[in-house]
Amino acid sequence: MYLAPFAHHRPTELAGVFEALAKYGDDAAVYAGGTELLLALKARVLRYEHLIDIKRVKELSGIRIEGQDLVIGALTTHHQIANSTLVKANAPAYAALSEGVANIRVRAAGTLAGNLAFAEPHSDPPSMLAAMGATVTLASAGGTRAVSMREFIVSEFTTMREENELITEIRLPVTGTDAGYAYRKFGHLERPAVGASAGFVMNEGKPAYRLWFGAIGDHPIHASDLEDAIVGTPPSSLRDVLPQAAEKFAAKITATSDLHGSADYKQHLAAVLIQRAIQAACASADTKGHADV
Ligand SMILES: Cc1cc2nc3c(=O)[nH]c(=O)nc-3n(C[C@H](O)[C@H](O)[C@H](O)COP(=O)(O)OP(=O)(O)OC[C@H]3O[C@@H](n4cnc5c(N)ncnc54)[C@H](O)[C@@H]3O)c2cc1C
Repeated sequence: MYLAPFAHHRPTELAGVFEALAKYGDDAAVYAGGTELLLALKARVLRYEHLIDIKRVKELSGIRIEGQDLVIGALTTHHQIANSTLVKANAPAYAALSEGVANIRVRAAGTLAGNLAFAEPHSDPPSMLAAMGATVTLASAGGTRAVSMREFIVSEFTTMREENELITEIRLPVTGTDAGYAYRKFGHLERPAVGASAGFVMNEGKPAYRLWFGAIGDHPIHASDLEDAIVGTPPSSLRDVLPQAAEKFAAKITATSDLHGSADYKQHLAAVLIQRAIQAACASADTKGHADV
């Protein structure tokens, strides 16, 4: 199906985007790669009189280090993230995840900010960004605010972003040398049926784990009970407690039955994938400086 007629706007500065959003309100949407939005417009699931192309807005570009944060500009595509030397050096697990998002055509055009703003549940980045303690920076004509990735996605296609706000950047704490993260996913369709994100960190000298699931429900799920069940357990002893704890936690997840699989099947995947992700996260951390790990 063809796109319905619309007016096209191409601001080159943030101020121009805010001006257009203020002027056209609900009748306007911004877009970057267009990989989600244009499909929805063609299918007539969404309809906007005004489309605001933000690709020329310079303030939204680039990847940089600021203090202890890796800062990813809103226009950065999954492909740029996967191939960035800065991301590979400072958040290697996130670079690896980006390499596995969608297919090369979508990765080359689709942005991380577009992925997060759309909040399609069958998505890779959100659970990993939550595990890593990332924040999303939102800006409007009235100012900026930071929202934790742990709270940003409320439910399917719904986020904490107000309609007059733009995602300007995503901030990830740089991965310390004694920490490690890993993502494991499975799906038979293009998008993941279940994604499991795991972090291994040393917290006050003790091993601790950061565990999140994606795609399995309508928003990323924090496996806090599973974290509590294995906190303090060094990687070498995980095999004694993890399989049982992972299965127990997975059975309690409110999973969505859909084309990607039944709720039962997804719970099974979750139990398997989180164990693999935890093992990989531990293996990627350098624990030589911690005698008891
Ligand atoms: C065939 C296919 C397969 C896919 N497979 C996967 C997969 O395996 N894993 C996965 O994680 N994802 C997958 N995706 C989703 C993909 O990651 C997203 O389509 C892409 O990242 C969206 O970015 P975009 O720049 O194209 O967004 P757009 O389509 O331009 O915009 C999407 C939405 O975000 C809003 N938006 C865009 N930028 C901003 C901003 N800076 N601030 C506020 N709102 C903004 C738009 O208004 C729109 O509502 C797939 C998509 C397709 C089409």
